[in-house]
Amino acid sequence: MDLKPLVDLGYLVGVILFILGLKRLSTPKTARGGNILAAVGMGIGIIVTLILPLEKGDNNYLFILIGLAVGAGIGLLAAQRVAMTDMPQMVSIFNGLGGACAVVISMMELNGYQTAFEAGSENAAGMGVHATTLLAMFVGAVAFTGSLLAYGKLQGLINDRKVKIPAPTFVNMTLLLLIIAGIVYKLVFPSNPFFWVLIIMGIALIYGVTFVIPIGGADMPVVISLLNAFTGVAAALAGIVYDNNVMLVGGILVGASGTILTVQMCEAMNRSLWNVIVGGFGGASSSGAKGDGDQVAREITANDAAILMRYATQVVMVPGYGMAVAQAQKVAHELEKVLEENGVSVKYAIHPVAGRMPGHMNVLLAEADVSYDKLMDLDDSNSTLKDTDVVIIVGANDVVNPSAKDDPGSPIYGMPILDVLDATNTIVLKRSMKPGYAGIQNPLFFHEKNRMLFGDAKASLEKLVSEVKTLG
Ligand code: NDP
Repeated sequence: MDLKPLVDLGYLVGVILFILGLKRLSTPKTARGGNILAAVGMGIGIIVTLILPLEKGDNNYLFILIGLAVGAGIGLLAAQRVAMTDMPQMVSIFNGLGGACAVVISMMELNGYQTAFEAGSENAAGMGVHATTLLAMFVGAVAFTGSLLAYGKLQGLINDRKVKIPAPTFVNMTLLLLIIAGIVYKLVFPSNPFFWVLIIMGIALIYGVTFVIPIGGADMPVVISLLNAFTGVAAALAGIVYDNNVMLVGGILVGASGTILTVQMCEAMNRSLWNVIVGGFGGASSSGAKGDGDQVAREITANDAAILMRYATQVVMVPGYGMAVAQAQKVAHELEKVLEENGVSVKYAIHPVAGRMPGHMNVLLAEADVSYDKLMDLDDSNSTLKDTDVVIIVGANDVVNPSAKDDPGSPIYGMPILDVLDATNTIVLKRSMKPGYAGIQNPLFFHEKNRMLFGDAKASLEKLVSEVKTLG
């Protein structure tokens, strides 16, 4: 029985669901449904692929089912246990596994080609297929080790200020040239030993590490989405090798959306991609940002902060990573409601790289039922902040650091920030004077317009809610 039409139909349905799912991921309101649609599409893709071995008569269903059960079990457990703040690490690991998968299947295919080349078989792979498989292995290997390193950095296991390589651009260019030369050599002399493939793979694995080592600090969002795009490209190349449409289209969708996200992230940081990759980061900020010497951050009590807000016309909340850590989004929404009941207009200013993943703050606030029309993007926020009486900065730091605008020596110089100092008063809710993700001090804390309300963001917001209620 010819099962191919059934498989192709399944792939078509799977691909349509991927596209519809992706479309729905573009707003928090429909994102959950979009995720489910895409997952159903993937499920259909897997099920119809399982039909394929039936045609050939030889199958390894036992191994396949064991692999599926183990993978699905680990995925389910990991997804249930992961904290929202650790999602980027999980994305990095998934990315890395996708890359590793492309490496493994490319190696299997390359091994098969090698046997055919050595036997001088007429059925040996053509140059196009051979090149595509070598490329899939290369891109997959970079995505694999690069993502593992990104995981280590995000998880705080690798201190990106200490782990460095000398002359990273030179090292990376040399490795890239070696890989390209190795691939060309293997294509020109295909029957040369398989050992060459292992050498190319080894260099590509090292290149993944040296590629990500110089990137860190506030540039991590860019590298995560770039590695995501790499994994998509590796999957698409593997789809060409296997003549598998669902793999090809799925890979293209991941590659294209990862690339668009990378470009958007670069725009959000006001950096070119080249600058992110070769520019390095880190180092201490130069003058004016240290907050040592005679600079002292002034504190405010919850009662005084509540009075400021209660009698304001416009309050803007700036959520950041600390809000995610404290899980303070519901209390933030409660404060918004209490203030609005008292005639104060409240909005949220969302920076594109606030938190630890793209859209992190939008997801949290949507989860707390904050109305979507209260969320302002960077441009809208900056025009609103000029007419704002009080800005409440809830566990945000780098995204409101004025050094990005006025300290050319700062590692985040040039990154667009929320111009909170345009408002009349700012209040920062955090636990200490510790720096944010970029590891640099924030002169905002010492500015005359600013007051610090120390403590866990959720506890501080709860105090503010009860103080505003008392004021009536
Ligand atoms: P930051 O990481 O700059 O700062 C977060 C602040 O939250 C810290 O200074 C911390 O101070 C405070 N905090 C932590 N826990 C709590 C708590 N329980 N209660 C109150 N405060 C708390 O966050 P931003 O959102 O401002 O900036 C995001 C940074 O992360 C940027 O540098 C961005 O480039 C980077 N990044 C973003 C990614 C993305 O895709 N969005 C991905 C990877 C990195 P304290 O310890 O004193 O409380």
